[in-house]
Amino acid sequence: MKTHVWVQVVIRIDEHYQDLLVGLLILSGFTGFVQEEKSLQCIIPKQKWNTACKIKFESALAKFKTEFPSCDLSYSSVIVQEENWNKKWESQTGIVEATPHIIIKPSWKTVPKRHYKKLVLHIDPKMSFGTGHHETTRLSLSLIERFLEPQMNVLDFGTGTGVLGIACIKLGATSVFAVDNDTWAIENTKENVKRNGVQKRMIVRHGSVSGIPRRNFDLIVANIDFRTIARFISTLTARVRKQGIIIFSGILTTDLPVLLKVFAKNALVPIELVNENEWTSVALRRM
Ligand code: SAH
Repeated sequence: MKTHVWVQVVIRIDEHYQDLLVGLLILSGFTGFVQEEKSLQCIIPKQKWNTACKIKFESALAKFKTEFPSCDLSYSSVIVQEENWNKKWESQTGIVEATPHIIIKPSWKTVPKRHYKKLVLHIDPKMSFGTGHHETTRLSLSLIERFLEPQMNVLDFGTGTGVLGIACIKLGATSVFAVDNDTWAIENTKENVKRNGVQKRMIVRHGSVSGIPRRNFDLIVANIDFRTIARFISTLTARVRKQGIIIFSGILTTDLPVLLKVFAKNALVPIELVNENEWTSVALRRM
């Protein structure tokens, strides 16, 4: 029997950052990833682990460290003989069952039969957040499923990979305006928009609140941190029509009491709260 030889590179990196790094490493030639809480295992056939590949790998790590200086990471590599990595990858990475009806699929995966009837979001991450591995993305999707109505015009603030905006279009929205202040995310979103064939209905722009057109959106989705929510809440509220809905995610449950007061000041009434682990997402109606 032919023995396959692989190189397994183990990167010690917190789970929170792993999705972002995976996108870069795919570009370096790695084909398999196993994510654990404190480490990311990356697998590559030994014959591909040559000098050029190692240089690409090192530059990917260097780029990542520049983008995220607070992220601690180090790595080691070992040669591994004959193991059924494919099975391991399939069980641990790749397709995310984001909600009972929606799956998120990277291009290196095929949709298993059991998911045939589900809505498929084709998302390849690069350096951007939004692969569905994070609770806040999944929670946002579940609220979108609940509140998105056909023909809505949607604002996706902090689009990341474009995942939420793409989901809105696929669920029947007429248009999505997606914005992110990270150039890498914008590039990535544009690719994912094409990958999903929604480019006619989804506009993608680099920028922040000042770049949002002055119109009355029916729905705003923002999976963004507490500080950014608090900072931009009045501007965002002014961009949603009366009786329209804002979905905020990225909220640590411990921050919720403070935010609820901020929502009340802005005449936003919570109509649904969902949570997973330490994260909460909320849907609010503008009065
Ligand atoms: N919507 C995706 C990504 C959420 S991560 C998802 O649900 O998975 C949050 C995103 O908001 C990041 O891509 C980040 O670059 C972007 N972001 C953070 N602050 C921002 C700001 N002030 N203006 C625009 N985008 C911002």
